[in-house]
Amino acid sequence: MNKSKCLDAVNQLMEDRRTQGKIEENRRREEISAAVPAIAQKERELQENHAAFFRFIADRDGSEEKFLEFRDKSLALQEEIKALLVQNGYPEAYLDPVHHCSVCYDDGVVDGQLCACYKQALSEQYLKESGMEHLFSGSCFANYDLSLYPEDSRDKMKKLLEFSKKYVKTFGEDSQNLLFVGEPGCGKTFLSVCIGCELIRAGNFVLYAPVQELLNDFEAATFRNKEAGLPTDDYLDADLLIIDDLGTEFYSSFVETTLYSVINTRLTRKKPTVISTNLSIEDRSECYAARLNSRLTYSFLNLEFPDADLRAETLRRKAARRKKQ
Ligand SMILES: [Zn+2]
Repeated sequence: MNKSKCLDAVNQLMEDRRTQGKIEENRRREEISAAVPAIAQKERELQENHAAFFRFIADRDGSEEKFLEFRDKSLALQEEIKALLVQNGYPEAYLDPVHHCSVCYDDGVVDGQLCACYKQALSEQYLKESGMEHLFSGSCFANYDLSLYPEDSRDKMKKLLEFSKKYVKTFGEDSQNLLFVGEPGCGKTFLSVCIGCELIRAGNFVLYAPVQELLNDFEAATFRNKEAGLPTDDYLDADLLIIDDLGTEFYSSFVETTLYSVINTRLTRKKPTVISTNLSIEDRSECYAARLNSRLTYSFLNLEFPDADLRAETLRRKAARRKKQ
């Protein structure tokens, strides 16, 4: 996953938002200037008062009384403008600066920390990088098609879906870690990314990665000193990390250590993780060493998915539709 590319895209987005805000501000000012000349006149008086105030500050010989005079005049003019706006059917803040985010004013940073809007945009970029962006449009849960499952599995899947909705609603640092277990094509990835998308929309920092991609990034950071352009710190810090397809990675002691370290660090930091895997508990005990296994078994809520092949069922339906046409 290319973090530098994602950061560049998010920084560009913030800049575009600031520019769009300025453009909208100017558009509103021109609109008001044409529609209500009295407001334009008050605006000019306000600007003149500000300019005179800055000259007064620069001269440094003013009195406290004069200072208060400038301030009171400015406040009075602002109130008059607001009143005129309302009288003419506009919101009173119509000429205020226009921002996409009212917390950081589209700076992306507030009190030295990344703003939630920045993290949300970064989550979306990561999703784009991982090819899962198409799931972000529309509400994932609402699009979940239970009829793709065999009839006798629908109840079980419905419960998993309800559980996931509740998980999103109550998400926080006390949320459980989830291990989605099931055969390929049974909807584990889809449901985990649904959870991720809903949480991104709610303003959380979410990172999705197929297990091999995550491991490639740690390998590059460890052995090729490329950490700066990789999201290794985000894998540890994201509000939610989704690791997809555990068990499909090429096994090595580096893999074992890295997986344990990522999972364990996140546990310590109280950052929930969702993992999907085809491996049963018996398979896992053959694949991984005891300490990683113990984490996966006891620190994660293991949720079994019903057998189904959603991809095959979707293709079968598409083919049937084509035949009808
Ligand atoms: Zn913000």
